[in-house]
Amino acid sequence: MKLNIINMYPDILNLYGDIGNLVSIKQRCLWRNINIKVENFTIDNEPPINDADIILVGGGSDRSHDIVSKHLIKHRTSLAEFIEEDKPILAICGSYQMFGETYSDVNHNNIPCLEIFEIESISKEERLIGNIMIENNLNLSPKELIGFENHGGRTYHNYKALGNVKVGFGNNGEDKKEGMIYKNFIGSYLHGPILPKNSSLSDHIILKALKNKYDINELDKLEDSIEISAHNSIKNKITK
Ligand code: GLN
Repeated sequence: MKLNIINMYPDILNLYGDIGNLVSIKQRCLWRNINIKVENFTIDNEPPINDADIILVGGGSDRSHDIVSKHLIKHRTSLAEFIEEDKPILAICGSYQMFGETYSDVNHNNIPCLEIFEIESISKEERLIGNIMIENNLNLSPKELIGFENHGGRTYHNYKALGNVKVGFGNNGEDKKEGMIYKNFIGSYLHGPILPKNSSLSDHIILKALKNKYDINELDKLEDSIEISAHNSIKNKITK
């Protein structure tokens, strides 16, 4: 088996080390003898979106969001089709916001978005920063997902949340929701990076891609003692 991964704008949207999400997906596939092809999607290189089985996009500054959105908008239809075909996308923080309709920066300037989801984000001077723990809505075990958030944007939508905030701020610091799920699109404010700290989510994304491509319904278990202890050490620190 082989999975094609498009890693979007690693040179622009990696301000918080979200490249670690690619490392997690790639390694957890290789450990299972699933071949991987990774293509970077950048301003200068635009591989066909529909050739991908998984798309990963990281977070960045408002300026990066503006640059990327203005470049990526011409692929809006392909991205929307990709999502409707149940193919997994993980979009972190700034790129999560970017898939929405509006993003107003701290100076009330509207930064262009892809207008794929009915999401509104409004940035405020005081940033939402710190460790975060949510209880996930994907029936993943353990139920807690942990990470680190650093965003000025407050995000509002009516989609299913990725999880309910137990520690930290989440989408907007008000409704105790974090992230969003629509089909196999996952948006989240969790940096960390999220996938190395939450291997169950990494496997969830891999399995969704394999289900789509090969009608596979389960993954071989991996020896995750290191991942589990890393997850628990942060969780214990957050909940102490
Ligand atoms: N620039 C956006 C904000 O501050 C996203 C930041 C990020 O990707 N961590 O809300």
